[in-house]
Amino acid sequence: MRDDIGLSLEELKEHLEKEGIHPSYHRLKILEYLMSHRTHPTVERIHNELSKEIPTLSKTTVYNTLNLFVSKGIVQELTIEEKEVRYDADTKPHAHFKCIECGSVYDVALESKIFEQGLVTEEGHKVIECQVYLKGICNDCLKNAQN
Ligand SMILES: [Zn+2]
Ligand SMILES: [Zn+2]
Repeated sequence: MRDDIGLSLEELKEHLEKEGIHPSYHRLKILEYLMSHRTHPTVERIHNELSKEIPTLSKTTVYNTLNLFVSKGIVQELTIEEKEVRYDADTKPHAHFKCIECGSVYDVALESKIFEQGLVTEEGHKVIECQVYLKGICNDCLKNAQN
């Protein structure tokens, strides 16, 4: 898995410009948040955290910005639960594990042939998007249950 934590605002700016997205301050801060918080946050979470620093930031702006990022393919949208959309700046194929105890969503690496073969399945189908969801109890919750 990539480790983008530590990207400078200048690098994030280039990242957006490369995709033809005007790098406004709000967009940069939202992307920076997603890059440095690999917790698959919701719109509410991103808005709550960022509005501490940027009081003028509206939830609509966060929502619209995330939709723009998703449409440009720099962020992926996760819908593990129907009523809960989460966002992930790691667009490489990987699985997600949701803990039914604490609600945390973790990245899970996938070791699968289809990823090594350039996203074409053995049958010759071309994969554009991959969403694999696993549910269970995370290692933190399991440890707490033992104490
Ligand atoms: Zn848990
Ligand atoms: Zn992820």
